[in-house]
Amino acid sequence: MKIPFVDLHAQYLTIQPEIDAAIAAVIRDSAFIRSPHIDRFEEEFAATVGVKRCVSCANGTDALYICMKGLGIQAGDEVITTAHSWISTSETITQAGGRVVFCDTDEETFTIDPAQIEAKITPRTVGIIPVHLYGQSADMDPILEIARRHNLWVIEDCAQAHLAEYKGRQIGTMGQAATFSFYPGKNLGAMGDAGALVTNDEKLADWACLYARHGGKGDHQIEGINSRLDGLQAAILSVKLPHLRKWTEGRREVALSYDDVLGRIPDIRIPAVAAERTHVYHLYVIRTEHRDALQAHLKAQGIATVLNYPKALPFYKAYAHLGHRPEDFPRAYAHQSRILSLPIYPEMTSEQIGYVHHQIAEFFAHGLFTSLPTSIAPAGR
Ligand SMILES: *Cc1c(COP(=O)(O)O)cnc(C)c1O
Repeated sequence: MKIPFVDLHAQYLTIQPEIDAAIAAVIRDSAFIRSPHIDRFEEEFAATVGVKRCVSCANGTDALYICMKGLGIQAGDEVITTAHSWISTSETITQAGGRVVFCDTDEETFTIDPAQIEAKITPRTVGIIPVHLYGQSADMDPILEIARRHNLWVIEDCAQAHLAEYKGRQIGTMGQAATFSFYPGKNLGAMGDAGALVTNDEKLADWACLYARHGGKGDHQIEGINSRLDGLQAAILSVKLPHLRKWTEGRREVALSYDDVLGRIPDIRIPAVAAERTHVYHLYVIRTEHRDALQAHLKAQGIATVLNYPKALPFYKAYAHLGHRPEDFPRAYAHQSRILSLPIYPEMTSEQIGYVHHQIAEFFAHGLFTSLPTSIAPAGR
């Protein structure tokens, strides 16, 4: 049996007639750029998140960059973000002219540890970017409270957590602005690159519209950039959006089944869901001391797994100039050598899930790891 990490084609097959018709309509109307499909998806997505405005753009990385520019970031301004994320979160801070200040993570949820944020604040700090990693919200109340006290903005990076909730509030509604990615493998995925920012701040949304579209069509009020959602992607996303809740439930069912079986294996720590939060399982990430050996075993049995991510951000060469050491971010550093993302997608069959259960149980039951020690990844500097 072969189990892919995600199966985008399986999802397409469940909605093929709708997708094909939507693509055909865009082609028929040559509605590739700035078409009604874009306005429609923006309205639908804003309503889904529960905010006033959605401004679509080319990808989730651009959404972060545009937000920071819109919030007025200046050269040398410091932005605090998590040590454990995809590099979009931090690279856009630099791209927008700011300085990245990393913060360690929470032991259980892998999201930014609010207790460590305040010590990172300096007179140059302007904002905080929490990431709702793997599909679970960061601990927003203390983050928002620190931000209020120090007059900082908060941008929620929601790329992995469409529809997740924190104390009954949907993610994307709590900061000054929030950003989403619709990269094909995300919980709501286009068939190419796509992204959006959402906000209740009308002025920020108006500015982002101008900026992302050359500073205004015909009448350029500012110099902008070209970061547009295209008509095909918008039409595809509008077809997929009504299915998102059902797909999210599908992910939860896979996760519950994994929890049930893997939770009984002492060598595995299954993902924890913090009180009053809901998890949408963009990724199902276990921890084990035998990570590398388990990954090799699963690969040999046809099961694809991924490391999200092989290193915590401060330990990549891209950030060597910051001179960080493992003891600066002990949790993020410890996690990087133990995390393993298992296959998860709404269309996974019970046979596929059962096969993953079985192969993992076999590995631990037979002590297949004893001859293969897990290598602790070096800090990369
Ligand atoms: C995917 C992702 C992004 C960026 O999205 P793209 O659409 O690929 O540019 C940003 N932040 C996080 C945490 C992500 O997972």
